[in-house]
Amino acid sequence: MQTWDVIIVGGGIIGLSLSIALRKRSATVLVVERGEPGREASHAAAGMLADFPLETPSALQPLAAASAHMYPELVHELQDESGMNVDLRDQGTIFFATPEQLQQCPGLTADSPLPSSLSELEPALSHIKLPAIYLKERSVDPRALTSAALKAARHRGVDIASGTAVTEVLLANGSVAGVGTSRTSYSAAAVVNCAGAWAGQLPPHQFPTRPVKGQMLSLVGASRDLLRHVIRAPEIYLVPRSDGRILVGATVEEAGYDKRTDAATIQHMRQAAIHLVPALAQARMLEAWAGLRPGSPDNLPILGATRTTGYFVATGHFRDGILLTPVTAHVMAQIVTGGKPEYDVSPFSPARFQN
Ligand SMILES: Cc1cc2nc3c(=O)[nH]c(=O)nc-3n(C[C@H](O)[C@H](O)[C@H](O)COP(=O)(O)OP(=O)(O)OC[C@H]3O[C@@H](n4cnc5c(N)ncnc54)[C@H](O)[C@@H]3O)c2cc1C
Repeated sequence: MQTWDVIIVGGGIIGLSLSIALRKRSATVLVVERGEPGREASHAAAGMLADFPLETPSALQPLAAASAHMYPELVHELQDESGMNVDLRDQGTIFFATPEQLQQCPGLTADSPLPSSLSELEPALSHIKLPAIYLKERSVDPRALTSAALKAARHRGVDIASGTAVTEVLLANGSVAGVGTSRTSYSAAAVVNCAGAWAGQLPPHQFPTRPVKGQMLSLVGASRDLLRHVIRAPEIYLVPRSDGRILVGATVEEAGYDKRTDAATIQHMRQAAIHLVPALAQARMLEAWAGLRPGSPDNLPILGATRTTGYFVATGHFRDGILLTPVTAHVMAQIVTGGKPEYDVSPFSPARFQN
């Protein structure tokens, strides 16, 4: 039987980026993906790289800030190796804060300076009766990012087995020996569970992950430069892409493993988008979709070694998995290869859920 140093369960952006980081450390890697790589949460995401303290849990802030900082390098590398463009945009975000949000964040004031007047920054925006704050956040196209990561992983010699669900992590004398699927088994002394919202379903450890549904839509046909910034308002956000698409997101629903969209919900979001940017009334709906974010009981990621020798986990990235991709790949590659993680990941230890 062929053997790898590391098997990664799940070919979403977390599993793929980790496979590349492990190859850089000379490990041989197999990614086993149940469906097609990169078609679940990583395909559904908006791609905001939002590390602003108001919406990021405080325990996550150091990791979020580090990851945001690492993004340009990750993108440079993936674009270079894949020949693809992942649409990293750095025009920033205009955030409309509620009075409660302003209160929560000391130092943030209703008159936090915008680089120029709102009507100059975004002429298409309607008048919104909330204070606008400018955030230096980037955005990326997660579908392009995931495709580029898949191509770069293959280019670096990562093996990918797709259309194959892992059904169990195999143990020998209490340590990891590989994974079993319905058809075959694969051998490795280290396995990393990157199965997103499904990570909790894999024996031997039941990580308490749950799917958190998000519905979104995209609009096209308004002028290509209708919006430059990401717009975050209390009810919805708008994320412009360089090809002229505008994404409108997103619901946050506890609906189990249900990825259906609801026509009334999508219409409601579209109307909210038109309310923010009236010219979007002329835009056509290109697509509506839903994805399942990997949630955890405390809404923090689950990262690190489990109590079974050779078994690791990297999941629970919830609403921030695209943002947290570079730092997760970096620290998990260090942990899996026996090194000391450069960032403190103790708040995210799987031990907090293992009695
Ligand atoms: C609507 C929406 C908007 C979002 N917006 C943002 C955003 O703006 N910014 C941001 O940072 N994050 C955002 N997110 C969150 C982000 O998408 C996720 O946190 C991230 O994609 C998680 O990546 P992952 O690789 O862990 O999971 P996934 O992409 O879901 O990948 C997990 C993979 O594991 C596979 N798998 C599952 N079980 C098995 C098995 N038994 N065997 C083999 N393979 C298996 C699945 O098929 C899947 O391909 C959003 C999410 C949604 C749904």
